[in-house]
Amino acid sequence: MNPTPRAVVIGAGLGGLAAAIRLLDQGYDVTVLERRAGLGGRAYQLVDGGYTFDMGPSLITMPWLLEELYALAGTSSAEQLRLRPLDPFYRIWWMDDPRYFDFTGSDERMKAEIAKFSPADAARYDAFMARSKAIHEEGILVAGRKPFLRLADFLGLVPTMLRLDAIRPLSSFVGRYFSEPHVRQAFDFHSLFIGGDPGRVPAIYTALSYLQVADGVWYADGGVASVVRSLGALVEKGGGRIRTETAVARIETVGGRVSGVRTVGGEHFPADLVVSNADASLTRTRLLGEQERDALPWRFRKPRQTMSCFLLFLGTTRRWEKLHHHTLIVGRDYQGFIRDVTRRRRIPEDISVYLHAPSVTEPAMAAPGGESIYVLLPVPNLSSGDDWAIRGPELRDRVVRFLEEGFGLEGLSSSIAVEHRFTPADFASQLGAADGNAFAIEPSLLQSAYFRQPNRDRTVGGLYYVGAGTHPGGGIPGVLLTAEVTAGLIRSDAQAGRVALPGGRRTAA
Ligand SMILES: Cc1cc2nc3c(=O)[nH]c(=O)nc-3n(C[C@H](O)[C@H](O)[C@H](O)COP(=O)(O)OP(=O)(O)OC[C@H]3O[C@@H](n4cnc5c(N)ncnc54)[C@H](O)[C@@H]3O)c2cc1C
Repeated sequence: MNPTPRAVVIGAGLGGLAAAIRLLDQGYDVTVLERRAGLGGRAYQLVDGGYTFDMGPSLITMPWLLEELYALAGTSSAEQLRLRPLDPFYRIWWMDDPRYFDFTGSDERMKAEIAKFSPADAARYDAFMARSKAIHEEGILVAGRKPFLRLADFLGLVPTMLRLDAIRPLSSFVGRYFSEPHVRQAFDFHSLFIGGDPGRVPAIYTALSYLQVADGVWYADGGVASVVRSLGALVEKGGGRIRTETAVARIETVGGRVSGVRTVGGEHFPADLVVSNADASLTRTRLLGEQERDALPWRFRKPRQTMSCFLLFLGTTRRWEKLHHHTLIVGRDYQGFIRDVTRRRRIPEDISVYLHAPSVTEPAMAAPGGESIYVLLPVPNLSSGDDWAIRGPELRDRVVRFLEEGFGLEGLSSSIAVEHRFTPADFASQLGAADGNAFAIEPSLLQSAYFRQPNRDRTVGGLYYVGAGTHPGGGIPGVLLTAEVTAGLIRSDAQAGRVALPGGRRTAA
């Protein structure tokens, strides 16, 4: 009898862990190798002085994708997590206007919020949502669940996207329905959460706001790290092995096919297939040999990376009524801010920030009487040439002043008991992100689907990808879908004799 085929997953981000669960289900012998001391990648957790901070994703959407993964491992989210729906999902404030906008899942309340700014725009909400729903159902839910290995697969999608008007830039699409600037901003900022400039990403990303309204925005007690912990435990329960502090230095090949990986410490792990959850562009340029790298057509060699983030983690000794679980604060020059961060590649003159304060919902996330606050400021990636050892402290002071004096978190600076920061330089050094990107390869039209790093490598046999840099892309739902698409591809490749076929399933279906 053939031995159980071995799969090595490089990286224990949400994509890598989800892929490991799916490969165990297919009967592979799975080893996950992670360079950091803990699991989660961008969904890492920081605990200090009684304050707990999620360091990356904070909004859980499309929870049914997690449910599907748990079901595959023979469990359910009710057994693994305490998920709570948030209401409102978030409150949006503007620096140039005293009104706020509560984003919720109720059509009536959404229309009332829009009407605060423009009754005419409120009247167009139903039409906007109907079109966004069609784009979500015919675009994301179809295209996001299958691989795009051939140009023809992409071209096959174009007529649907044209019919749904989903190819034009997102901000232009939103502008066809809403004309009041604050309302437009409330419906086009969502692509920033996966690193997409609303002026450049296709309108297919309007699905990001639709899916929140349709399925809600959720919080898992203990933060997104609870999801990570549960997935890690399920990998081990399913018979998989996870090794932390084990960075992969090289994917080894024989005759154009993977044969294993070698770690920075020199250890060799033989493999019949390798799934890389490491940065998709750097997997090719750093982990493969020159011969395999050069085999790639030039147009796929240097993808454009997304912006990065400057993150501040503040544990405070007091609380503020103005702070919601999720709060967005839009600066006076939103367009200039986006241009600075994406196209001009410079630290923005005018800032817009997102605040996550899970202690508003779950007080145990902070020391008694305080808040655990994470501040996210989009900034250019390392291609801007900024020296973050110098820019970091300056920007920290600017952000704290902005929150205290501009936004109104009175006494913030004197109430900070615990403080940490994470800069583009940390995205590069700790997560191995190309140019210190926060959200992988930019989700522009010409870097999506067929044009993105495909789920199966274009030239090296047995090498697959999961995570935000491959299809369909970033965000928790996006990377869970990458694992589904990649595992499905491995299954059909195994049946077609392209990779080793396992003898049988090992975990419950
Ligand atoms: C600040 C921020 C906020 C976000 N907010 C949200 C949100 O609210 N909701 C949402 O849905 N999404 C959000 N996202 C996006 C979401 O977090 C990501 O798309 C997702 O977590 C990425 O998962 P991944 O599996 O692709 O990769 P990662 O999380 O990056 O994991 C990759 C792993 O591979 C490891 N690795 C890399 N190289 C090697 C190597 N050579 N050897 C071994 N290991 C290696 C890394 O250490 C890392 O652990 C946010 C992202 C950021 C940065």
